[in-house]
Amino acid sequence: MLVDSFGRTATDLRVSLTDRCNLRCTYCMPPEGLDWLPKPELLTADEIVRLVRIGVEGLGITEVRFTGGEPLLRRELVEIVTATAALSPRPQVSVTTNGIGLARLAGPLADAGLDRVNVSLDTLDRDTFVRLSHRDRLSDVLAGLAAAEAAGLNPVKVNAVLMRGVNENEAVPLLRYCLDRGYELRFIEQMPLDAQHGWQRENMITADEILGALKDAFDLTEDDPGKRGSAPAELFLVDGGPRRVGVIGSVTRPFCGACDRVRITADGQVRNCLFATEESDLRAALRAGASDEDLAERWMAAVRGKKAGHGIDDPAFLQPARPMSAIGG
Ligand code: SAM
Repeated sequence: MLVDSFGRTATDLRVSLTDRCNLRCTYCMPPEGLDWLPKPELLTADEIVRLVRIGVEGLGITEVRFTGGEPLLRRELVEIVTATAALSPRPQVSVTTNGIGLARLAGPLADAGLDRVNVSLDTLDRDTFVRLSHRDRLSDVLAGLAAAEAAGLNPVKVNAVLMRGVNENEAVPLLRYCLDRGYELRFIEQMPLDAQHGWQRENMITADEILGALKDAFDLTEDDPGKRGSAPAELFLVDGGPRRVGVIGSVTRPFCGACDRVRITADGQVRNCLFATEESDLRAALRAGASDEDLAERWMAAVRGKKAGHGIDDPAFLQPARPMSAIGG
């Protein structure tokens, strides 16, 4: 088991399949993009599947989420999902995507055994989408969402980040859009994980602000807080339910005490927290011929060193060198 020194057990594995992305969301990277990892540094599909197998069969991982960068850019995605869904005990398998390309891939991914999808959608306004992501792809994202729903990847989840002066007025329209289509929306507070290091607390739209805006338009009641477990989102029933909305207060309402996540970057580094400043290199060991047991040992040691919390509020807080796109959100 992947247990840390505070007694938390990691069961939810996030695997980044690439650091590349076809959007340039301002909270993540600069308009010109970043220096992408050279291909030889990326784990191969076989290496990814081997690590996932070790996690699932030997270390208690029960959920595997593929992310990036943009995971749909990884050519072997369907094969990787197929191999993951064939593991025993079978993990829950999901993908976090910006939705571009999902119109084509939702069906094949569902057939491969994908259980769920989280699609990022921060705005319904085409001009705002271009301003926020530097690409004119809103219609592709909306088509991807519809395709995911049609392929049975339900409930389709939507992630939204609100930013002051950009899309802060979209909490209510985004929720209406999702409720009308049966998608489950989660707002995420903007975190200091952009490559430009431009995050400023005063520009972050807080969970309180989001809930305040939603409560002007909807009746929200907490959805049984006892059920939250390790889930980062606080869930609310909308207008009496059963439809729900979630708010992930990563910064102002941290949930580190219940964290059950561990990450592997596209170049094979274990990260025990989004904000970790240290990583453990599984790729070097893997390519040097390490056994499954040896890799599992290294992975367990990496999780053991997990800190109590992300420390954003600590005056000594240092933003990690890797931006979100290179960690795997
Ligand atoms: N490209 C995929 C996508 O757009 O969903 C997967 C990777 S992306 C890094 C994963 C999630 O992280 C997205 O929902 C995105 O909005 C979110 N994200 C990226 N940078 C963030 C930040 N600085 N604060 C909060 N969320 C962020």
